[in-house]
Amino acid sequence: MPPIEVIRPEIICPWTEPPKIYITKGTEAGKLEHNQIAREAKNNLGHVLAYTDGSEIKGEVGASACIPELGTKAANYMGTNQVSTVYAGELRGLQLALDLALKHSLLIRRLTIFTDNQAAIQAVAKPRNHSGQYLVHGVRERLQAAQMLGIQAAIHWVPSHVDIDGNEQADILAKMATGWREGEGKTGPKAPTFPSLQSLSSAAKRTTKARLEAYWANKWEKGETGRELYRLAPKISKQRLRVHSDIPKTFSATLTQIRTGKVALKSYLYRIKRAPNSRCTCGDEQTGRHVLIECPNFKELRKAVWPYNSQPQSFKAILNQAWSAKKAAQYMVRTGLLGQFLEARNRLEVTN
Ligand SMILES: [Zn+2]
Repeated sequence: MPPIEVIRPEIICPWTEPPKIYITKGTEAGKLEHNQIAREAKNNLGHVLAYTDGSEIKGEVGASACIPELGTKAANYMGTNQVSTVYAGELRGLQLALDLALKHSLLIRRLTIFTDNQAAIQAVAKPRNHSGQYLVHGVRERLQAAQMLGIQAAIHWVPSHVDIDGNEQADILAKMATGWREGEGKTGPKAPTFPSLQSLSSAAKRTTKARLEAYWANKWEKGETGRELYRLAPKISKQRLRVHSDIPKTFSATLTQIRTGKVALKSYLYRIKRAPNSRCTCGDEQTGRHVLIECPNFKELRKAVWPYNSQPQSFKAILNQAWSAKKAAQYMVRTGLLGQFLEARNRLEVTN
């Protein structure tokens, strides 16, 4: 795997001329603008058009550029999607277009580069401390080199897949750079790997996150602990964490206890041999579900906490929604039953 990029605070010399960037609004306008520039270029010796593209196919990223008028083109393989993104491919495409132009600088007075990726264009216009910075820098360096060689360069957005030959050509080239070939399941050699390839931190983050989540989900599904929780929430998600945000810590702890079944209610206390039996004062088994939903002794409290007949019907629903989970925690504290836990703990300390 290529080294991970280092993102530095952005320093742009104030005297460098900002790159000429144009993004037209809308597909039709973009196509019209392209065709108009293409007509002008036809009558203007020295004004050439370049097309670039980045592409991801089956987890492989490619970059390309072509200058049809000069019959020249270039492509790079940019690694897997654990290293690069389409955005990285697009930026490398811009570099390739500028490299081609620099190579033919004697033939070029004016260069218009067409790309279909607005994010890449905007990054070149206003570099920031974002992932992909090393590629943005490369584009800007080449733009300056072109300027010094007397080439007026501009980057224009062009809509993709609207039958613009150069754009289609770049599209195919970028795909082929990944090893893709036209025709069902066909493959071929990849384009040469971009020699200065670095792993984007954004791609690395995405990969790590995906791997961690898969690992976690698997553990969660196959694990032997936390089964009470698993039954309540078989799928892991961030929403689960949100249930806990914005509530006092004691409530949060209570909530976790209810969720895990390890709450200071008789059924649990009995299980861990801290209570003589598992019975509630009403005679039923004293579980979290019983106290929250069923126990007749807390009918009034239930009404006070969940007014307007909005009383909880399902144990699972209560604990999976932030607002009702919060109410559940308040409710449990107000039953006074959790004092059993303190008693139990004190007893534990004494016996120890
Ligand atoms: Zn009861």
